[in-house]
Amino acid sequence: TPVQMSPLLKIHQDATSFYHHVLLTTQAGERGMKYARERELSEELLDHFQIGYAPNSENVLLTYLRGKGYSDDNLAKSGLFIQSKDGRLFDRFRDRLMFPLGDESGKVIGFSGRRISQDKTEAKYMNSPETEIFTKSKALFHFSEAKKAARREGHLVLYEGYMDVISAYKAGVHSGIASMGTSLTDQQVYMLKRTSRNIIVNYDGDDPGVHAEERAAKMFQQAGGFNLGIVVLPEKLDPDEYVKKYGAEKYLEEVKGALSPTDFFLKRLAKKYNLKNDRERITFLSEAVKQIAQLSNPVEQDLYIDKLAKQQGVSKDSLKINLMRERRRLF
Ligand code: ATP
Ligand code: MN
Ligand code: MN
Ligand code: MN
Repeated sequence: TPVQMSPLLKIHQDATSFYHHVLLTTQAGERGMKYARERELSEELLDHFQIGYAPNSENVLLTYLRGKGYSDDNLAKSGLFIQSKDGRLFDRFRDRLMFPLGDESGKVIGFSGRRISQDKTEAKYMNSPETEIFTKSKALFHFSEAKKAARREGHLVLYEGYMDVISAYKAGVHSGIASMGTSLTDQQVYMLKRTSRNIIVNYDGDDPGVHAEERAAKMFQQAGGFNLGIVVLPEKLDPDEYVKKYGAEKYLEEVKGALSPTDFFLKRLAKKYNLKNDRERITFLSEAVKQIAQLSNPVEQDLYIDKLAKQQGVSKDSLKINLMRERRRLF
């Protein structure tokens, strides 16, 4: 006999089908469908990600779920409603495109709702609050599906946003996941470690995105045992925008061309200096050698020293002398 599902999980299951049904088959959902079309979300994608629409109403979901027999006590605990001072419940999500957030086995435990209106005073994304079943620091969008795909694709790809995961999926990357806007947590790194050692980080190409990639790379390196790739998209594009602009094939090339952490850090470092100026170039080279000296694998050290020498037109031998000095200082 199947294990009895907790009421909060059942509420989320029913809310997911409700929102999805509203989006696809009702007049109230047409607003959501119009937005979904603008975002190039096909019916197949809407189905795969169980995307829905929360109408602009105080109580459609409330009425629906009460009708299914759930107690107000459980509804209040679900996080899907806001409660007034006198205890009355109201739908929390209104006029939003709804992205269900699943646990490791795919059971929906919360939602994130994308604002549809142009009203910039409203938050672009609204998330479920923490509940008995929903912990933000452990939530990963699309994780259960991505785990299956990771076995085929040989890696997991980490994104910033839900729409990035979805557009990557459309482009053929089915192993995409996203943390919840909040930056990556140690718990999430641990969850990933159990799934795949090969992680590709593909945050937005804008400054905050690249900054967050730097932070994520350090976290993965700290945790150890990962084989990390980092994608930096051009023109400050996020993956969703990139796929829209350049298409699936180009996007897959970007993923294939993911940088090693050392390449990524050295590129970032180089941007801080005017390399046409000798003094700055010397400082850059000594900082770069310091980074390379941190690597434990001598083959890796050699590879990057070689690259650096060729790039900067200096001898490999002189860089190696500096590398040895640096390693003696460090270890
Ligand atoms: P879209 O393409 O729909 O505009 P995005 O994913 O490109 O969204 P970003 O601004 O790049 O949005 O933010 C990345 C992620 O951060 C979002 O997917 C979401 O998870 C989270 N996020 C962004 N803004 C908010 C917000 N106001 N409240 C909560 N989370 C947010
Ligand atoms: Mn962003
Ligand atoms: Mn973005
Ligand atoms: Mn975007």
